Amino acid sequence: MRNIIFATGNKGKVLEVKKIFKGSQFNIIALSDLGKVIDIPETGDTYEENALIKAKAIYDIYKEPVIADDSGLSIDQLDGRPGVISARYAGENCTFDDNNHKVLKELEDFPQPHTARYVACAVYYDGGEPVYSIGEFEGQIIKEFRGTNGFGFDPIFLPDGYEITCAEMTTEEKNKLSHRAKAFRNLKAKLEK
Ligand code: IMP
Repeated sequence: MRNIIFATGNKGKVLEVKKIFKGSQFNIIALSDLGKVIDIPETGDTYEENALIKAKAIYDIYKEPVIADDSGLSIDQLDGRPGVISARYAGENCTFDDNNHKVLKELEDFPQPHTARYVACAVYYDGGEPVYSIGEFEGQIIKEFRGTNGFGFDPIFLPDGYEITCAEMTTEEKNKLSHRAKAFRNLKAKLEK
């Protein structure tokens, strides 16, 4: 069994990623399992850069293999925004609700459908060459808020082929489809090779 630290403070992501690696040769250790709470500034211009910044920050502390991720929402009519700044789109310390309202305001003059995708980059870093994997989750932004599960843009994100938003899905349902799940499943496959 090889230990890998997951550089995130997000409990939902920890559960999702531990499940993906279950039964593999890798044992995922959450920062919280190590009693560590750390806020790593996301100063990169791309998902890859931000994921690697997080992984390196934790690797520098523990000198153990690390996985990390970075993700966001890309809306075609907004030229890919909010993108890497998804979490703070409406400003520093903004809420998910603020971000959703900002996106809907910006889409006001555009015709439907507002095609969009969630994008996640997962990275593995052990002091050598980083291993990257990208996952995408296609859908569209709708005008009304539907559902209370999930987080972020989930109440206004309608996945392709579904009549319910991500916030109306169960966590299990969403995790089967999600950009993060795709990125980490593929990363696991690359590491197993
Ligand atoms: P991070 O990867 O934790 O830095 O997430 C960046 C931001 O992207 C989040 O704060 C959300 O605004 C958005 N985002 C990423 N993944 C999702 C998702 O699965 N649902 C909703 N919003 C997401």
